[in-house]
Amino acid sequence: MGATMIELFQRAEHFGANTAIVDLSGHYSFRELLDKSAAAASVLLDGKKNLQETRVAFLVSPGIDFVVTQWGIWRAGGIAVPLCGNYPIRELKYFLKDSGAEILVAAPEFKEKLKPLSEEDDLKYLESENWNSTEPVVLPDIQAEQRAMIVYTSGTTNRPKGVVMTHRTIQSQIKCLVDAWQWSEKDRSLHVLPLHHIHGLINALCCPLWAGAICEMLPKFDAEKVWKRIESKEISILMAVPTIYTKLIKEWEKVIPARQRLLTKKCKGLRLMVSGSAALPVSVFNKWSEVGGQPLLERYGMTEIGMALSNPINGERRAGMVGQCLPGVEVRLIDTKGLVSEIGPGEIEVKGANIFKEYWQQSTVTKKAFHGDWFRTGDIALLEEGYYKILGRAGIDIIKTGGYKVSALEIEGVLLTHSAIEECAVIGVPDEEWGERVAVSLVLNPGKDLCLPDLRDWAKKRLAIYKIPTRIQKLDTLPRNAMGKIIKPEISKMFQAVDRLEVG
Ligand code: AMP
Repeated sequence: MGATMIELFQRAEHFGANTAIVDLSGHYSFRELLDKSAAAASVLLDGKKNLQETRVAFLVSPGIDFVVTQWGIWRAGGIAVPLCGNYPIRELKYFLKDSGAEILVAAPEFKEKLKPLSEEDDLKYLESENWNSTEPVVLPDIQAEQRAMIVYTSGTTNRPKGVVMTHRTIQSQIKCLVDAWQWSEKDRSLHVLPLHHIHGLINALCCPLWAGAICEMLPKFDAEKVWKRIESKEISILMAVPTIYTKLIKEWEKVIPARQRLLTKKCKGLRLMVSGSAALPVSVFNKWSEVGGQPLLERYGMTEIGMALSNPINGERRAGMVGQCLPGVEVRLIDTKGLVSEIGPGEIEVKGANIFKEYWQQSTVTKKAFHGDWFRTGDIALLEEGYYKILGRAGIDIIKTGGYKVSALEIEGVLLTHSAIEECAVIGVPDEEWGERVAVSLVLNPGKDLCLPDLRDWAKKRLAIYKIPTRIQKLDTLPRNAMGKIIKPEISKMFQAVDRLEVG
């Protein structure tokens, strides 16, 4: 065992026989997690004393093997680069090349997809189930300032960037949430999120392990199974994205009223249900208060900053708002003149130990992303009665039309209260006269129809005239990434394609 262990592992030693992970294969204690990850680290080291920040890419399904692999990489002194199973080969190749990975670890179910990639780039290929093949060795000292993980951004506009976190960054992000959301050994969280993204990696996995709580991992999100686990009353916490809550609502609506009442009663007993990674529409917040019997806690964060703003655990959780600064995090708003604005609207800048170290091998891009110590998020917000409200991403969700700046998120929130609309995505499309025009892609509820004049008539009572869409497009589904986020550049392309057809 190395002399210096990062706090996450020291704490795991302390929790020892307590259960850490539950998955379809069984229950695993903190002790087992430490022993298995020491074995994994020994195989990864393969005779070396320290991996010294070697990048180890890995693709392992949610469950004990994922955590053992991640901890094994950390304990061997490597940098963990989590991959996503849904990514096409082209993207996976990009992540391997960009990160300069030297080792690729995969679960047997991904062998067919990944082994050929490892051969192409001459990477060492290891299977996440074969960690016991080497005698355990003395593990290296791990310093908090060492690089620990590279998480790739969703890259909806440019090529994904590798966000580098040190052990200290990760530790600060965990501590801030454990403190704010009062995680404890008594908690048992249900993990249903992808494991290549900060939400699933830090908030939903590292936080319970830090607190000595149980993390129960489902192989993937399944609305019926999640309700079953909620019904068991064993679960105390759920971390999810807005689309997951929408799917849980739909599942609840399918069952008879007596069962609905039972599920709501059981759900009310959960200690905490969090929503984040995308805007939680007010309609979903309100509906969940009825279906889940409790107000969701909405928070705001980003791969580069961890979590920054959160509604209170005790106190009023406001619909459409993301609350206040989390412990140890400072936030300011910068207006279009570059000045600090008390209430905004302005770009959110964030400072604190939660902030990432750098974009992997992109020093110029990293420099540009900061004002001194303040990271420029590119998100626009305002402060209303002490609560921050996210208006959206600059350049995507902030539409400049006829001299006004309007928030796509605000318009989407209103349109989602229309009985015919199941989902929608608002964007600005270029327009010679107005600069941009407000356009919306709609997914309608089954059996419903809606035309532009009717939508405009309905919206006039609810939105200022310049915010009302002047173009609509009906789709079967909205393009979304693995986290359920709408890919707005694809929506823009669809409108452009229609324009080209009309001109042609
Ligand atoms: P990611 O780095 O993939 O987690 O994406 C971070 C981005 O998601 C932020 O920059 C915001 O644009 C968006 N986001 C995260 N949480 C929220 C929220 N509660 N409301 C609105 N947007 C959010």
